[in-house]
This record gives sequence, structure tokens and C-alpha cells, in this order.
Amino acid sequence: INTARLDRLISDSRQINRKKVRLILAQKRVYVDGVLATDIAQLVDQFSHVVMDNEVLQANQTHYIMLNKPIGVVCATKDKKHKTVIDLLAEQFDQDVLDSLHIVGRLDLNTSGLVLLTNDSRWSERLTSPEHKVSKGYQVTLENALTTDYIDAFAKGMYFPYENITTKPAILHIVSLFEAQVSLTEGRYHQIKRMFGRFRNPVIALHRYSIGSLRLDESLKDGESRVLNVSEVTSIS
Ligand code: URA
Repeated sequence: INTARLDRLISDSRQINRKKVRLILAQKRVYVDGVLATDIAQLVDQFSHVVMDNEVLQANQTHYIMLNKPIGVVCATKDKKHKTVIDLLAEQFDQDVLDSLHIVGRLDLNTSGLVLLTNDSRWSERLTSPEHKVSKGYQVTLENALTTDYIDAFAKGMYFPYENITTKPAILHIVSLFEAQVSLTEGRYHQIKRMFGRFRNPVIALHRYSIGSLRLDESLKDGESRVLNVSEVTSIS
């Protein structure tokens, strides 16, 4: 993130000297992110939206994208063998935008569903940092029939000796004999598959449909993506 003083940004982009910029600010002609700016030393960065005399001096350059990841696509920026989630966005976005993105919460190669990509790490941190306890919703299809025993076991947490951790309470909802919805607030390696593995019940299909308040847009077909709207972006706080 490149930060700069507001007076610097204005003087550079309009070839006006700093003294004049001070006057322009005093005349209440500049807004940063919709708020009247009066401090010449205010810091701005590429996420700041700067308007002077109703003209955009710098547009907010943040990007927030949701993707319906298909099976067989890898959550990485580069891969020798498989198509990546970035490859799926290549037609819609410029290379410099693609280069700026990071993936918010990865999915396994054979898991489908909601993946978020952004260049705003303050935003993505709210979704991924453990203290925010954001829940992620998964639709799970199993090989063997479910029983109500699963509900308690998921709620209690399971001890994973390899990592020496006990999983956080997870909510399991039985949808049908072979289908469950699972809500997790963390993302351990292959977590859902391993949790069902305790019951020797292989996961046949795994699909993420939500992250916090964000739901996968059902109009997005496999591999399709769209930018988040303002209310979706601001619902993460
Ligand atoms: N649990 C898994 O096993 N895989 C995923 O991709 C996500 C959660």
C-alpha cells in the first residue's frame, strides 16, 4: 500500500503548487471517500476515492469479486498442472487487477462454490482472522447415511493430533440421509473431509455456499464470477 499526503496527491495530479492546494482545501472543494477533507496532511492510498470540484482525481482501486469455483480448479495464483481461480477471471479483468488480487479462504481442488478475491487486505482480514469467528457454510454429500450422533460430535469438536488442536464448535444440520449442511468458523486442512472421516464416511461432494453474510449468487454458473455490490462489501465490518 502506497500512502501519500493528500496535498501531494492533489498537487501531483493537477500540477498545482502546495500553497494553492491549501487554499483549495480551505475552500471546501475536496472530498475523500465522501467526507469533506480539510487537513492537507491527511494520508491517502490507492483505496481512497478523492474528488475535487466534483471531478474524480483518484478512483478507489479496490476490487471485490465472488467466484463460483468449479471442481478441478485450484485456489492458487499459479499452478503447473491445473487451471487456477485467477485463470477463470482472466477474461473479465485486466492483468494489473489480476496481479493485485489475493484469495480469501481457499477451497480444495475437488471442492466447489464460493471463493472471494480482493486486493483489500484490511477487508479480507475481517473475514479470515480467528477473532472475528466468521462462519462458512458448506453443503456436504456423503457416501453413507448420517445419524444424529454426528450433530454432537461436530458441536463438541474433534481432536486432531497432527496439529494438536480441537476443532471449534461446528453446526451440523441433517438435510437428508446423505446430505448435511455444516457451518465452520475456521478452516483447517481438509477439515470437513477429516471430520466425516472420523465416522468412516467419505465426502462425495463438498460445496461452499456462504462466507459470513455473503451468499454465493445462485445465478453464477460453474466458473463464473461477478464483482460484489456496495452492500455486500460493506456488510463485512
Ligand atoms: N473442508 C474441506 O475438507 N475442504 C474444503 O475445501 C473446505 C473445507
